Amino acid sequence: MPSMPSPSDTWTRRRLLAAIGGVAAVWLTPHGTAHAAEDSLGSLGLPASHWKPLVSAAAYAVLFNEDTERSGTSPLNHEKRAGTYICAACYQPLFSSEKKFDSGTGWPSFWAPLDDAIGTKRDFKLVFPRTEYHCARCGGHQGHVFDDGPAPTGLRYCNNGVALRFIADGEALPPLRG
Ligand SMILES: [Zn+2]
Repeated sequence: MPSMPSPSDTWTRRRLLAAIGGVAAVWLTPHGTAHAAEDSLGSLGLPASHWKPLVSAAAYAVLFNEDTERSGTSPLNHEKRAGTYICAACYQPLFSSEKKFDSGTGWPSFWAPLDDAIGTKRDFKLVFPRTEYHCARCGGHQGHVFDDGPAPTGLRYCNNGVALRFIADGEALPPLRG
């Protein structure tokens, strides 16, 4: 169900567009590997080390070392309230509760992200290629997207709960940080 963009969504988009225009899209992993521009990680262009003091050790391992939390461990699996899921690092809104569904996998799952909120790249950590996705703003890894989700998109964004924060409707979204 489409909803009108809130003022903060509009503001985020405007800021993102400005950042994308002004930052060379090269990002260094903790291992020092340069990713090419098509990876489009993190419009902020900040190194992973910037976020280390700002997030929990478990969140850092997922966000910036592409760790995966153990299935069934996130309290967000059971979160049913209306609200917004934001990046645990930079606080950019990534998903709406309107597009969350119970996938039965033990990870919070969504059938679509918010507009312009995420970027993707292919990874080959398992034998077959998977599509990794990350916060478009800070580059923090969130999860993987699969094509076995429900209508209308048929997609399943399988997210690490520890990489998100839930803000219930009626609570103020925290200002973006970076
Ligand atoms: Zn982020």
